[in-house]
Amino acid sequence: MYRTKTCGELRISDAGKEVTLAGWVQRTRKMGGMTFVDIRDRYGITQIVFNEETDKELCDKANKLGREYVVQIVGKVNERYNKNPKMPTGDIEIIASKLNILNKSLVPPFTIEENTDGGDDIRMKYRYLDLRRSNVRANLELRHKFCLAVRSFLDSKGFLEIETPVLVGSTPEGARDFIVPSRMNPGQFYALPQSPQTLKQLLMVAGMDRYFQIVKCFRDEDLRADRQPEFTQIDCEMSYVEQDDIIRIFEEMTKYLFKEVRNYDLGDEPFIRMPWIEAMTRFGSDKPDMRFGMEFVELMDILRGSGDFAVFNEAEYIGGICAKGCASYTRKQLDELTNFVKSPQIGAKGLVYARVQEDKTVKSSIDKFYSQEIMTKVAEKMSAEPGDLILIISGPDAMKARKQLCELRLEMGNRLGLRDKNKFALLWVVDFPMFEWSEEEQRLMAMHHPFTAPKPCDIPKLDTDPSNVLADAYDMVCNGVEVGGGSIRIHDAVLQAKIFEVLGFTPEKAQEQFGFLMNAFKYGAPPHGGLAYGLDRFVSLFAGLDSIRDCIAFPKNNSGRDVMLDAPSAVDQSQLDELKLSLCSDSE
Ligand code: ASP
Repeated sequence: MYRTKTCGELRISDAGKEVTLAGWVQRTRKMGGMTFVDIRDRYGITQIVFNEETDKELCDKANKLGREYVVQIVGKVNERYNKNPKMPTGDIEIIASKLNILNKSLVPPFTIEENTDGGDDIRMKYRYLDLRRSNVRANLELRHKFCLAVRSFLDSKGFLEIETPVLVGSTPEGARDFIVPSRMNPGQFYALPQSPQTLKQLLMVAGMDRYFQIVKCFRDEDLRADRQPEFTQIDCEMSYVEQDDIIRIFEEMTKYLFKEVRNYDLGDEPFIRMPWIEAMTRFGSDKPDMRFGMEFVELMDILRGSGDFAVFNEAEYIGGICAKGCASYTRKQLDELTNFVKSPQIGAKGLVYARVQEDKTVKSSIDKFYSQEIMTKVAEKMSAEPGDLILIISGPDAMKARKQLCELRLEMGNRLGLRDKNKFALLWVVDFPMFEWSEEEQRLMAMHHPFTAPKPCDIPKLDTDPSNVLADAYDMVCNGVEVGGGSIRIHDAVLQAKIFEVLGFTPEKAQEQFGFLMNAFKYGAPPHGGLAYGLDRFVSLFAGLDSIRDCIAFPKNNSGRDVMLDAPSAVDQSQLDELKLSLCSDSE
């Protein structure tokens, strides 16, 4: 036996026992004639003691151990004189009688401790060492527990976990596909699924009734902290359901996961359901962070045309937020906020601010354009009190201005400590528009995906007023993060063809790309709907992480590279030849 116990399990009640442990050397300390070695495995750290007086040879061997050596130790559990209350095994130590070096290690490129000196790049290059750190490992443990709880909940509700293929055809879900050349079909390509969307719908046509899958999805998009080129979904679909049925079951699952995995009680109340338009108006976002208020107040009626300020007089939107107790913000802090909203990522033209003073008068950065009476009206409409700071954003494009104000609200939330990672605020955003206009493509695009059903009452508008058609779609939002989203699907071939037409597909193109689905709908497709959760995002929220990378064993960096495997990489000419592919140089 390599070991009789792990490095995390011995307690004072084990004192006197003879044990064998195996693990990695975390560190060694020599103090006089004693040598202390901490050894680590997945379960914890245990202190081993070597005594020069009792066994010099053994102690000399221990003194030569390097960091990350793999060792096996036999010894007796002893109550410690100096206990360490911070360690679960801190009451005991092992008096070593044998030391067996199972493997040596090079000096690791960074310290393998909770707070490491390794930067991101080096940790990713040596991810297998990074994963030895207890906090990184804890994220993977949490992910495991999360998946187990998902499977057990969905199984209890009759869902079947069914695998779908990874080599498929292109599924247009708004992102670019990753494509894979086919050797057996030269000149033809598979696409990796952006999600198993059409396949799960076909499983409903096949009568599976309730499907789920914890599944990899692939999207060739520009990356951000909460995006990876390959990520994992909890993908679900149900037959004979309406929006309410889906919301009910997945709300129950969410409450179960929070309780089981995070020990957090979301209470008995149903989550808020907020129409998309309301979310945009009150928070400038389709994924509002509801941990705090600071809701938008529209100020067009008061500020446009009532002063000599061209920016406001030409604006299509003027809105403000009220930061409680922030009137004392210094010039420097206000400049920081102004620079923040003017940064290229946010793109606002400027920031107007107003302080409500003790005597209720308002002192603002636009005093020369507006009377005190107007500014008092602003403060009143915003329910601002003495000591509060009003921040106003405007713009010629209402949606853009709202999004900018949203970023400012989130920034203020951060600054005021209102976005506590241990607090969770969930809601459903519902009634999304069916389509959005793409400037780039000069056509309507599906806001969710083209298989989403329009609200039945809006179907007649598909011909006359498609921009105002609402979809039977819903997103689950937690702390300003879209954790899941889905829709009721179209199950009628004629309506599906109509949607493709609105999206600008010719009947031939629609048939070529989606013939398989529309044909399947002709063989008795049941009404169905579903949703998918972003597993990485959900787990990151549970773990309080800033980036989804930290809960993925082997993530890719911002340029989509796996720096450990050094992928992607060039392939041999012979491989290209076999695939009948040739590369053109940049200049061609
Ligand atoms: N396939 C969708 C997505 O990946 C989710 C769904 O509609 O079920 O966003």
